[in-house]
Amino acid sequence: MDIFCKIIAGEIPSERVAEDADWIAINDIHPKAPVHVLVIPRKHVEFQDVDANLSGMLLVAARNVAEKLGIDKTGFRVIINHGEHGGQEVPHLHIHVLGGKKL
Ligand code: 5GP
Repeated sequence: MDIFCKIIAGEIPSERVAEDADWIAINDIHPKAPVHVLVIPRKHVEFQDVDANLSGMLLVAARNVAEKLGIDKTGFRVIINHGEHGGQEVPHLHIHVLGGKKL
């Protein structure tokens, strides 16, 4: 089981900043910006599983998180790392939302 599945199952603690039926949003343990949140689908999926519903759901979640954390007006960066060359560490699809300063 990957680390995000364990976080979703509550086996590993995390700082949840938002969640709904399909995803959770947690503070990254090694933040690269004043706001660095990971939006993670509850279901274990990887990039190969992306379809219009899943990608739309994640982007709407990222926007909702940005609004909740008050960085929607100043702007933010959304990143997906995929695979070895993409620098992906955790093999469970997730979106990074970074903001809180000019990147
Ligand atoms: P990736 O390179 O896979 O897109 O990024 C994974 C991210 O997950 C990294 O930014 C890393 O700091 C974060 N991360 C890894 N393990 C944990 C953890 O146990 N808790 C939290 N909150 N973040 C984690």
